[in-house]
Amino acid sequence: MMMNKRDFLKISGIVGTGFLLSPQMACKTLKSTATSSAAAWIDPLLSAKGEFMLPALGYTFAALEPHIDAMTMEIHHDKHHVAYIKKLNEGIKAAPSFADKTLGEILANVTKDSPAIRNNAGGHYNHSLFWAILGANASKPEGKLLEAINRDLGSYQQMVDALKDTGTKVFGSGWVWLCVDADKKLFISATPNQDNPLMVNLVEKKGTPLFGIDVWEHAYYLKYTNERKKYLEAIFNVLNWKVIGQRYTDLLS
Ligand code: MN
Repeated sequence: MMMNKRDFLKISGIVGTGFLLSPQMACKTLKSTATSSAAAWIDPLLSAKGEFMLPALGYTFAALEPHIDAMTMEIHHDKHHVAYIKKLNEGIKAAPSFADKTLGEILANVTKDSPAIRNNAGGHYNHSLFWAILGANASKPEGKLLEAINRDLGSYQQMVDALKDTGTKVFGSGWVWLCVDADKKLFISATPNQDNPLMVNLVEKKGTPLFGIDVWEHAYYLKYTNERKKYLEAIFNVLNWKVIGQRYTDLLS
């Protein structure tokens, strides 16, 4: 039976509860030591298990105007992301080896032989992270994260230029990432489609994403048409560096 979005949200119990609205809070409450990876820190988005649910945005569809338009946000969140979740849940039913695994375990186990899980688990994680690291109030990195950016990527401006350049060069659909590697160093990478740097069987450069920028046409085409570069310039006005900085601080601990 198909659920409409209201039922979906009602069943998931996230309407009005603020669940997943505060990644910082989630980090504190969901931090776990049970992990197969070297890092003790687990991104709270990766701890989700069972029937996967649509996280609330935490701001209105229009909140990122004029940089990202309300209609793009609505379609992106309510149609595209919902579709990834629906197909992920269906895919898991058809592939029992992925049942009862956390999202983090699923991403760490996908291969090219599991395309449906790969695409839709990636789609779910990547978009959940994307909503969490966007926000209306422009800010800049500071503290430990800024120190790491200066140390590993030259400067804030050099990092921005490298992210824009990498994002512009993605052929077709994909994501550009700011990541932390196993030595806690920052690096920038790109992945095709809905892959991400947590898919250790598939990516050249493994790492934990601090944030990703969606460079699929559906992320920008209504406002920017074919001008991905303009979208990549605009998005730096709506990155929530408080959330990104907190992810970095939590990851170091
Ligand atoms: Mn997208």
